Amino acid sequence: MYDLIIVGAGPAGITAGVYAARKRMHFQMITMDIGGQASLSWDIENYLGYQFIAGPELIEKFKEHLQKFDVEVRENEKVTLVEKSDAIVKLKTDKRDYAAKTVIVASGRRPRKLGVQGEDELKNRGITYCATCDAPLFTGMDVAVIGGGNAALDATLQLIKIAKKIYLIEAKPLLTADRIMIEKAKESGKVIFYSDTKVKRIYGDTLVQGMEIEKGNKVEDLSVGGIFVEIGSTPASDFVTGVQKNERGEITVNCSCETNIPGILAAGDVTNVFAKQIIVACGEGAKASLAAFDYLNRTEGQT
Ligand SMILES: Cc1cc2nc3c(=O)[nH]c(=O)nc-3n(C[C@H](O)[C@H](O)[C@H](O)COP(=O)(O)OP(=O)(O)OC[C@H]3O[C@@H](n4cnc5c(N)ncnc54)[C@H](O)[C@@H]3O)c2cc1C
Repeated sequence: MYDLIIVGAGPAGITAGVYAARKRMHFQMITMDIGGQASLSWDIENYLGYQFIAGPELIEKFKEHLQKFDVEVRENEKVTLVEKSDAIVKLKTDKRDYAAKTVIVASGRRPRKLGVQGEDELKNRGITYCATCDAPLFTGMDVAVIGGGNAALDATLQLIKIAKKIYLIEAKPLLTADRIMIEKAKESGKVIFYSDTKVKRIYGDTLVQGMEIEKGNKVEDLSVGGIFVEIGSTPASDFVTGVQKNERGEITVNCSCETNIPGILAAGDVTNVFAKQIIVACGEGAKASLAAFDYLNRTEGQT
């Protein structure tokens, strides 16, 4: 029986781990990876103390900080269920079962899928959800970026340096990204813009060879070797049962990171907290750990 289990080791989970270690709690961290979305960021200019730092470098520093407190992290382990039963929180993972007095869910977000024919079959065979990780694989090729927000334009600007031609395909009539990013993409002369356009299907034998797009009644075939899906993300909250979630699936928390179920707390991008940013996730992770400690003190002897 642990005092606390922390699910996830992104900025929120790692910070929660440092705080739990300093409170000498008997706790365990379980995560699929260390770093989360922050390790995908090309350039971070808004984490205090660093005027500029790449995501993987910042995560290395976070990891060093955690290791200083000798925290054991169970990596490559996926939590499949969190539920409260008989005054304890039970967890199931793809490896074993756990029980804890408190849990902090810090599982962040995962990329949203397009949901079109060919996507599942060609995922990681030319379809990617992370430009920062995969853009160099498409050097000299014609590629497509799907989406029109900042993430899509960020991917496009990275690809301008690498790809031959970039089709930017947005389902809405207008791009929602910052104007400065759109201007940079236009100035490159490499980007062909499609708005009000839907992806119909993606095809290829073993690798992506092309895609069909549709604008109004007109269907067009684009020959591309890479497709970057940048249409946002969804909270990784499906494995947590019983807790209140909003219409977007984000776990609803109060200002102490408590959910409606005593003993289950949540922090960072998986919650309804405003602003999905590293610095915010870190702050929320710190609060969640302190709130778990406070909860244990209050309930000691009652359970
Ligand atoms: C491309 C990109 C660029 C960005 N750039 C910036 C930037 O410049 N500045 C900024 O402030 N923010 C930026 N962000 C946002 C920032 O990365 C997030 O706000 C932050 O990482 C959220 O931290 P988190 O710990 O809440 O979640 P995440 O970083 O998403 O971490 C979640 C963790 O939970 C784990 N996990 C998920 N599900 C499970 C499960 N079922 N079982 C076990 N473990 C699980 C994951 O493996 C991961 O370790 C960027 C995001 C992206 C995608």
